[in-house]
Amino acid sequence: MRRPIVAGNWKMNKTTEQARLLVADLLPGLQAVTSVERVLCPPATSLMGLKAMLTGTEIGLGAQNLHWEASGAFTGELSPAMVKEFCQYVLIGHSERRQYFSETDATVNKKVKAALAIGLVPIVCVGETLAENEANRTSEVLIRQIMEGLKDVPADQAGAIVIAYEPVWAIGTGRASSGVQANVVVADIIRPALIALFGKEITQGTRVQYGGSVTAANAAEFFCQPDIDGALVGGASLKPTEFIKIVEAAGQ
Ligand code: PEP
Repeated sequence: MRRPIVAGNWKMNKTTEQARLLVADLLPGLQAVTSVERVLCPPATSLMGLKAMLTGTEIGLGAQNLHWEASGAFTGELSPAMVKEFCQYVLIGHSERRQYFSETDATVNKKVKAALAIGLVPIVCVGETLAENEANRTSEVLIRQIMEGLKDVPADQAGAIVIAYEPVWAIGTGRASSGVQANVVVADIIRPALIALFGKEITQGTRVQYGGSVTAANAAEFFCQPDIDGALVGGASLKPTEFIKIVEAAGQ
């Protein structure tokens, strides 16, 4: 049995005070759903304040990025140890980082290894663009992102990895994949690629989230699929009632 995991990616939204207010609204509802692993990924400026608010709860904190080096001349970056001061999780390879900040499978690979080495759970985002989807390149793209992004990850650390399947055409567009279609991609492309890298036993325990325009209205459609183990939620994670309903749906 894989425990469902639902993470909210706040992206570049909320000042520290706004973040505090949002968490105050989210906490009672989120704390009630103990069967689901619940994670909030606010901007880095809010990690310290939210860590204080979430201490003693079961709600996890995640960063939206990290650098792979331990320290040095990398202006604007956060090292794994800096992230680890506040977080248990880190998003890696989100499509917005790939698109706007030149992240590649090679940098994703370095970040995944650095995150695992320090004991962070990497939520590794993969997904095809609309053009790739329309050119029937989904399989090729996902296999490359997984094989390159997770290359040479030590087998004894691989079990901690969470994959977020996020078709880029579904992110922030209001045009989600269907549950059945997303499950086909996870079952027929993503899990076989993971098996090729890490073997059947580890892959059986690997959680794969769906992400891309998940809402309270469509969440159950994904969570009833056998190969989908939760969601990475962007826009809807900023709306307390909506996000709590998504987490509740994952618990059913
Ligand atoms: C995301 O940012 O990972 C995401 C899935 O966004 P949205 O839910 O808004 O599509």
